[in-house]
Amino acid sequence: LSTSGDSIRRRFLEFYAARGHKVLPSASLVPEDPTVLLTIAGMLQFKPIFLGKVPRAVPRAATSQRCIRTNDVENVGRTSRHQTFFEMLGNFSFGDYFKHDAIKWAWELATVEFGLPADRLWISVYEDDDETYSIWHDELGVPAHRIKKLGEEDNFWTSGVTGPCGPCSELYYDFHPEKGYSDVDLGDDARFIEFYNLVFMQYNRNEDGSLEPLKQKNIDTGLGLERMARILQQVPNNYETDLIFPIIEKASNLAKVSYQLADESTKSNLKIIGDHMRAIVYLISDGVFPSNIGRGYVVRRLIRRAVRTGRLLGIKGDGKGNPEGAFLPILAEDVIKLSTNIDPDVKTRGSRILEELQREELRFVLTLERGEKLLEQMLIDALSNAQKNGTVPCLSGKDAFLLYDTYGFPVEITKEVADERGVGIDMDNFDIEMENQRRQSQAAHNTVKLSVENGAELTENIPDTEFLGYSTLSTKAVVEG
Ligand code: ATP
Ligand code: MG
Ligand code: MG
Ligand code: MG
Repeated sequence: LSTSGDSIRRRFLEFYAARGHKVLPSASLVPEDPTVLLTIAGMLQFKPIFLGKVPRAVPRAATSQRCIRTNDVENVGRTSRHQTFFEMLGNFSFGDYFKHDAIKWAWELATVEFGLPADRLWISVYEDDDETYSIWHDELGVPAHRIKKLGEEDNFWTSGVTGPCGPCSELYYDFHPEKGYSDVDLGDDARFIEFYNLVFMQYNRNEDGSLEPLKQKNIDTGLGLERMARILQQVPNNYETDLIFPIIEKASNLAKVSYQLADESTKSNLKIIGDHMRAIVYLISDGVFPSNIGRGYVVRRLIRRAVRTGRLLGIKGDGKGNPEGAFLPILAEDVIKLSTNIDPDVKTRGSRILEELQREELRFVLTLERGEKLLEQMLIDALSNAQKNGTVPCLSGKDAFLLYDTYGFPVEITKEVADERGVGIDMDNFDIEMENQRRQSQAAHNTVKLSVENGAELTENIPDTEFLGYSTLSTKAVVEG
């Protein structure tokens, strides 16, 4: 049996189709739900059905949903299992089957369809959910030492502050069973990978935090396609699967490095590019164009991060000899090539996507180069001032912030360059500037929430500043206004 990403997706959908599920298309990355900025999970398009606001069209469905999780951006290239863009395979029951069938089929899918050895699988259950524990242990025979009872943080799933939710149970694959059964942490990225989450969606969380039982009991699940591919293709991380690696190979060609021989930091940079390129292409394809606000800012930040990362890797211009050229469109072509079974619409939008990337990259490179000149001047000034006053040469927090905010320089890079010239940075004042901006951006962010809610176009009078950081613009941006 083939273990390509495409066939894992197909096998999952066929497995559930054979069990009465209607296979439905992925929803857009831009959700209809106004309480969430981007599609973070397969359940989002079904939320109104789970809540009983819309009647179900079918009792059971299965999808492969494209997802973006900006809250994982710092994990990209650091853990083996997180991307910002990934596909979530899911099977759903709208008041139809519940725990028994969901668990039984998940087990059969993992051990029979995908052929994972049962003794490599670990299970987590919500600590109060005895029924689920008993299904795994008494009915399916999973030994107690491979079932972990975890608390609300890990095993009670919610899509936001309010909305449908419930206890969940997850399946993990153990890469190192020889490490034994004591002191086990399922979050240990070097040993385990969580690949399938079964959510027993039976409550609605109200504004006041209280849980109200839903009229029907539902099943919502998510299985990470790249994670299953990583297990079955026996590669060390999601990025080396056939779903992402071709992009990384192209990037390493442009950078004239060998991925296999590269050091960890080079590898990590290549992984960032492999991930971000996919996120960028699918976001633009779904109509999210770079801008300074809301979703547009997410894509702009990802583009800028990809460009900077490419420069760190030594990619010059288009990487193919034209110093005035852009390299993102070259990588985007590979993403588009790989898109056929992820989203067939991407190909038809291809030329528009490439144009947009070309324009955005070249504009950002100009900004970066102006920033480099500015930094050079700042360093000269700092050195001559220090000499005049007999003080230690230091760049002000304001200057470092200007470079960060307007010219897209991460402060680490400014620090490095300054350091080479024997100049320090006033980090205390830099942090104060950052904090001020965070507050400002939060205000801007609230405006986005309002305008999303009102269905109006995003406001225009937001200062043209660098973005607040991914942590503030979380995937779970809840409408408050
Ligand atoms: P983790 O604990 O590894 O961050 P999670 O518990 O946040 O994962 P869920 O919200 O349960 O993930 O999502 C369901 C499934 O989607 C996960 O079991 C995993 O297979 C996949 N998944 C979640 N986040 C990512 C990601 N950032 N990259 C790739 N796959 C992911
Ligand atoms: Mg997570
Ligand atoms: Mg988890
Ligand atoms: Mg989970």
